[in-house]
Amino acid sequence: MRGTLETIVGAMFAGKTSELLKRILWAEHQKKKILVIKPSIDDRYSEKLITTHNNLSHDCYSMVDWESTNNNFTFDNKNFDMIFLDEIQFMSPKPTIENVEKILNLGIDVVCAGLDQDSRGKPWETSSFLLGLSDKITKIYGFCNVCGLEATKTYRKIEGGSRTQVGAANIYEPRCLKHWEPR
Ligand SMILES: [Zn+2]
Repeated sequence: MRGTLETIVGAMFAGKTSELLKRILWAEHQKKKILVIKPSIDDRYSEKLITTHNNLSHDCYSMVDWESTNNNFTFDNKNFDMIFLDEIQFMSPKPTIENVEKILNLGIDVVCAGLDQDSRGKPWETSSFLLGLSDKITKIYGFCNVCGLEATKTYRKIEGGSRTQVGAANIYEPRCLKHWEPR
């Protein structure tokens, strides 16, 4: 049977990695064989850990690209029950979709987490494709830093900079539609 794909999306500081970590801990509690992967661009805390903003963490493999990942791991249902991907917006769209489909077809479940939109409100390609491929979608929300209402957007406090800038609280914050503008 094909594996299940779940994608967790939301704005920055909505708690996406915490939501992913919850599923990782459930899987470990069930003695499942798992692998956690994040793209190596995300060097905010550590290359070998996924870390939530409230400092919970879990070991992970820091992925340069899918080719080297496939050289390091043999994806089959004897080795793995579940694969977890964090910060999917920074993974290359085409190889990510191809490899996730391949892993699902081997009967391995996949759970992904990442931003659905950038601070300009534009969809991230890899997240969009994975959402389209998903069996289950979990969208989570932060709280607007101005008014405290539900936040669906990521607001860039400092103008300029590249789209893939890895964010910390000094650059980005969650905002509702009323208090957000694209930049
Ligand atoms: Zn607001």
